[in-house]
Amino acid sequence: MVKNIQSIRGMNDYLPIDTQLWQKIESTLKQILTNYAFSEIRTPIVEKTSLFSRAMGEITDVVEKEMYTFNDRDGNSLTLRPENTASCVRACIEHGLFYNKQPQRFWYLGPMFRYERPQKGRYRQFHHLGAEVFGLNGPDIDAELIIMTARLWNKLGIAQHISLEINSIGSISTREKYRQVFVSFLKKYIDKLDDDCKRRLLTNPLRILDSKNPEIQKLLHYAPLLTDYIDDNSKKHFTQLCKLLDAVGIQYQINKHLVRGLDYYNSTVFEWITSSLGTQNTICAGGRYDNLVEQLGGKSISAIGFAIGMERIVLLVQKTNPDFFIKCSSVDVYLVAYGKFNKETILILAEKIRDKISNLKLMIHYGGGNFKKQLFKANKYQAKIALILGENEFQTGKIIIKDLRTGKQEKIFQQNIYIYLTNILN
Ligand code: ATP
Ligand code: MG
Repeated sequence: MVKNIQSIRGMNDYLPIDTQLWQKIESTLKQILTNYAFSEIRTPIVEKTSLFSRAMGEITDVVEKEMYTFNDRDGNSLTLRPENTASCVRACIEHGLFYNKQPQRFWYLGPMFRYERPQKGRYRQFHHLGAEVFGLNGPDIDAELIIMTARLWNKLGIAQHISLEINSIGSISTREKYRQVFVSFLKKYIDKLDDDCKRRLLTNPLRILDSKNPEIQKLLHYAPLLTDYIDDNSKKHFTQLCKLLDAVGIQYQINKHLVRGLDYYNSTVFEWITSSLGTQNTICAGGRYDNLVEQLGGKSISAIGFAIGMERIVLLVQKTNPDFFIKCSSVDVYLVAYGKFNKETILILAEKIRDKISNLKLMIHYGGGNFKKQLFKANKYQAKIALILGENEFQTGKIIIKDLRTGKQEKIFQQNIYIYLTNILN
C-alpha cells in the first residue's frame, strides 16, 4: 500500500466549508480598512534572513527559535516571513515611498510562518491581517488605529468578547536606564530564573519581561516597572492617547506589564485580548516602532501598526457569533440536459446566462444520466433552481425552470430565462 502524504504539522488546509467564512470575515475587515483610507501592500513570502534579525532583534523568541530559515541553491540565507512589518518597511524604502515623508497607510493579509508548538489558535502557518501607518507621530493616529480595530470587532459582532490593554514602553533610549535597574533586580532572584531567562539576562534582559513561564511572570510582579522609567515625551503621548480614547468611548485597561515580544517597539503598545479562546488569548497586537525605518536603512520616520491573528478571529466568530455567517450553497442554478442535441448547446446557453446575470452561481451537470439522476445531483448541491432542457424543449426553443425549494416548475421560452431567474433568485 502506498502511504498517504499528509500536510505539515501546524499548517492547515482551508476547505470550501472554511473558506466561505474566511472570505466573509476578510471582506468585512477589508471594507473597514478601505473606509479609513488604507491601501493594500503585498510583499514576498520569502525574504533575506538578515531583514528579520535586524528588524526584530537577534534575541527574540521569533528570531531565535521560530523562524523557518534555509539556504537557497546559491547559499543565501532566506526565511519564510514570520511577520510582515519588516517586509513592508523594506519595500517602502526600496521603492522610495518615504521620499518626501508623505504619510502612508497600508494593510496586508497573508500567511506567516513560525516554528511553534501547534495547538488550538497557534499554528506554524497562520495568517496576519495587519495595518501600518508611516510618517505620523502624534497620539491621534494611535487612537485612530485603535478605534478602527474596535470598529472591526463591532462589525464582526465579537466586541463584547474582547478587551483592550494599552501601555507605553517609552523610547528605546530610556529603556537603557530601566535595563540596569531591571538587571539588578533579576540578579537578586537568579536562582528563580529558568535557563532561557538566565541566558537573556546576559544578552537581552528586557526580553525576560515577555517570558511565557508563569513562575517568571509571578516574579515579574515584584520587578520595577518599565513605565516608571519612561521619558516625558512618551508619558505625554500616552496621556493624550488615553484622553482621545476616553473621548470616543473606547474602554481600555492600562496594563503596566504589557510589553511586546519584538525589539522594535517603543511608546504606545496595545493588545486586544479575549477570554473565550483559552490560552491563545491575544487576537490583535500592535504598537509604535518609530526607529525601525531608520534601523533598516531608511529615513527617520515614525510608524505604528498592528497585526490581527486571523485564525483566532475566525475561531472567535465561530464560537461567539455563529449568526455572522449563514452557510450558503455554492450553486444557485443547476443546468440539466437530456437529449440528442449537441454538447455545445448547453455550454453556449450557460455562457449566455453568465453574461447576463453576473453574480449567479451556475453549474452544468456533467457525467450523463437520466433526468432523475441529474435532479438528484442538483438537490445534492443544494441548488435553488434547476434549468431543464429536454429534446422537446430544445426543438421548441423552450426550457423548464424548476424551483427546487418549492417544487414548482414552469416551461418558458429560453429568451425569458434571465427575467425569470432574476425574479426567482431575488
Ligand atoms: P503570542 O504571544 O500569542 O505568541 P505574538 O506576540 O508572538 O503572540 P505577534 O507577533 O504580535 O504575536 O502577532 C500578532 C497576532 O498574531 C497575535 O496576537 C496572534 O493573534 C497572532 N499569532 C501570532 N502567532 C501565531 C501563531 N503561531 N498561530 C496563530 N496566530 C498567531
Ligand atoms: Mg509568539
